[in-house]
Amino acid sequence: MKEIYLDHAATTKLDERVLEKMTPYFLNDYGNANSQHGFGRAAQQAVDEARDTIAGLIGAKASEIYFTSGGTESDNWALRGVASALKDKGNHLIISKIEHAAMLSTAKELEKEGFEFSYIGVDSEGFIDLDELEKAIRPTTILVSCMLANNEIGTIEPIKEVAEIAHRHGVLCFTDAVQAMGALDVNVTDLGVDMMSFSAHKFNGPKGVGALYIKTGVKIGRLISGGHQERTRRGGTTNVPGVVGFAEALKLAKAELKENYDYVANLRNRFVNRVKTEIPFVKFNGPEDFSRRLPNNADFSFEYIEGESILFSLDLAGIAVSSGSACSSGSLDPSHVLLAIGVPEEIAHGSIRFTFGKENTMEEVDYTVDTLKEIVTRLRAMSPLFDLKGDIKDV
Ligand code: PLP
Repeated sequence: MKEIYLDHAATTKLDERVLEKMTPYFLNDYGNANSQHGFGRAAQQAVDEARDTIAGLIGAKASEIYFTSGGTESDNWALRGVASALKDKGNHLIISKIEHAAMLSTAKELEKEGFEFSYIGVDSEGFIDLDELEKAIRPTTILVSCMLANNEIGTIEPIKEVAEIAHRHGVLCFTDAVQAMGALDVNVTDLGVDMMSFSAHKFNGPKGVGALYIKTGVKIGRLISGGHQERTRRGGTTNVPGVVGFAEALKLAKAELKENYDYVANLRNRFVNRVKTEIPFVKFNGPEDFSRRLPNNADFSFEYIEGESILFSLDLAGIAVSSGSACSSGSLDPSHVLLAIGVPEEIAHGSIRFTFGKENTMEEVDYTVDTLKEIVTRLRAMSPLFDLKGDIKDV
């Protein structure tokens, strides 16, 4: 049976060149980067080099990069860190309605602690409403936040404009760049943001390591208390092999960005064209203008059937996809992102996200569409809703 991985927004395969760079830090230079001896110095040197590399690749200073355990921690830290550092200035924060659970669930917790949140809506393609955003800013607002690219429907948000609006009102701006990093040329200076989160496993780096960019001068409290690591802002022994792999993966992603962008966009385009023309009653979610969506993302709602049934049938055929975001699968609630762009609940239930990667081939795309056509036809044949649709059509 074929094994086809089309879930690159959930995570990616580690690049072997990255593994090669990481291996010595597991087996030879395994010292604690905080230790005073030779092992420690070798580890510290590798961490310093990784920090320099990452900073240089995103237009930041090395002193502005703080290593974390990944996107979730960085998102939590940005929200909680600003809330605790600026609570005397205000208790109001603004985020978009389509943020990742790492943001939304932290917001819900902070609400219980007395902070107030405004959740800004998006249009039918997932773009944030900039007017609503500006109107939501109050004298007590301490943070404006919007993700750089959405993990479900691939919408690339106008973060430069979001940052300009926030700054016009003297408010800090944070962006979650977890999905965008590696796929787009992300530069903090161009974007004008004060903080940004990103995570290595989304661009062929290791899992469990990420970073928070914190612009010089930005006040933010600690999330993780402990030793003096990360210039006393984030305690915990540094994940040296992870950090080394993170830097190497980002270096490769940036160096090969154009080639990878064109390659995966080509796969995605053929997939989208074939699904749109060969499978009836489908809704393509996210921007129609492909220059404004992540190159590897295709999200479809298949009317009259459940996304989970499609997912499990594809899995049986050896094809790995996601229904909604991987982090929220296990729950049968329709995706908050699809609801936010106005997809009716019953249609949102039939949604599948296909995300392509540089390891996929055009043959895999064609095999997936062929298999999908059979599955959708079979599931619809069993669906009472689809029968009803037929009846209604016949009338
Ligand atoms: N933010 C976004 C937009 C994501 O897509 C993800 C992961 O899917 C995260 C945050 C969480 O990142 P991590 O898996 O590194 O914790």
